[in-house]
Amino acid sequence: MIMLKGIYIHIPFCSEKCPYCDFVSIVDENSDIHKKYIDSILKEIDLYIDEDFSVRSIYFGGGTPSLLKPDLIASLVENISKKVRINNKPEITVEVNPENYRFADFKILKEAGINRISIGSQSFLEKNLKALGRKHSPEDVLKTVESAFKVGIENINLDLIYGITGQSLSDLEKDLKAYISLPVKHISAYMLTAYENTPLGVEVEKGRYLLPDDSLLLDMFKMIDEYLEQNGFSRYEISNWAKGGYQCRHNLFYWEGKQFLGLGVSAWSYVNGVRFGNTNNLRLYLKIVNEGKRPAVFFEKITPEERRKERIFLGLRLSKGIDLDIVKDKMPFIEQIVNEGFAQVKDGKLILTPEGILISNYISSMLI
Ligand code: SF4
Repeated sequence: MIMLKGIYIHIPFCSEKCPYCDFVSIVDENSDIHKKYIDSILKEIDLYIDEDFSVRSIYFGGGTPSLLKPDLIASLVENISKKVRINNKPEITVEVNPENYRFADFKILKEAGINRISIGSQSFLEKNLKALGRKHSPEDVLKTVESAFKVGIENINLDLIYGITGQSLSDLEKDLKAYISLPVKHISAYMLTAYENTPLGVEVEKGRYLLPDDSLLLDMFKMIDEYLEQNGFSRYEISNWAKGGYQCRHNLFYWEGKQFLGLGVSAWSYVNGVRFGNTNNLRLYLKIVNEGKRPAVFFEKITPEERRKERIFLGLRLSKGIDLDIVKDKMPFIEQIVNEGFAQVKDGKLILTPEGILISNYISSMLI
């Protein structure tokens, strides 16, 4: 039995569906269901109680966890800690939308042990927020950071989206300036992606929403990387920068292939060499769990060969790169991408450059 160090809890509720989002989230649910859902999460964890837990990270992701009353999150954390062994200094993160929580809410979270907040800020420019279909204002982000910081939650992440229609390098610079002026320890910067099954994907397909070309995207990525590095942040993963010691433990567990338990609708787990995913259907999830059964419906046994592929695919996302040993049969291709400036070899590791990061999926597939 392998020790489980992380717990992920998926909160599937959103007040509206953002046009670019392909996460599993449910709109228009009556908030009465929130309590029922949290009770079901607790029942679900009971179904795994025989596993060996030594939890160092709990992560509430979504969806929009901050649509829940903070007392519900607090009670869930308290109850989980009665059921499984929690490390004495766990990282406990809640994703928060900027329009939801203020001082009194953060106070409840802080008292319950939540010590990391990840804010879905996306941008400080009104035109970007509008183009992303977000309802919050730049002031909402400021108030959220200020409230969390005031109650003593210092480990704060801000999300930034780049590659938005009409966005220039000077727009991006304005955003970066605003981001680094705030007391935050971590910034996640994601390139806007037009997933096929989303309204944005349809608009892009029909030519009604123009995304920046690859050369502008590369310039944007380089600007973010250089700007944040010059201002005390270090990139540790393709989309993540942190000040010293504030790398997100939950994210690292995932990228380093550590085993963890995912709870809730559509949550994925990796336990005892098997990766499995829960049903995406909320009603079905509630029914199955309340019948005392595990709600996992997708299973994949991770063989040593699968694990090797994951180490390449996930490891290349990390700025520390992957051991050359695991891809030594691909030396001609590696020499080619190094010569072309897409990667570098350092201390026995293969590491992607910014140019390589933009085509990381292609490079991973060639190495796999
Ligand atoms: S709030 Fe987040 S999870 Fe919900 S629809 Fe928007 S991007 Fe998706």
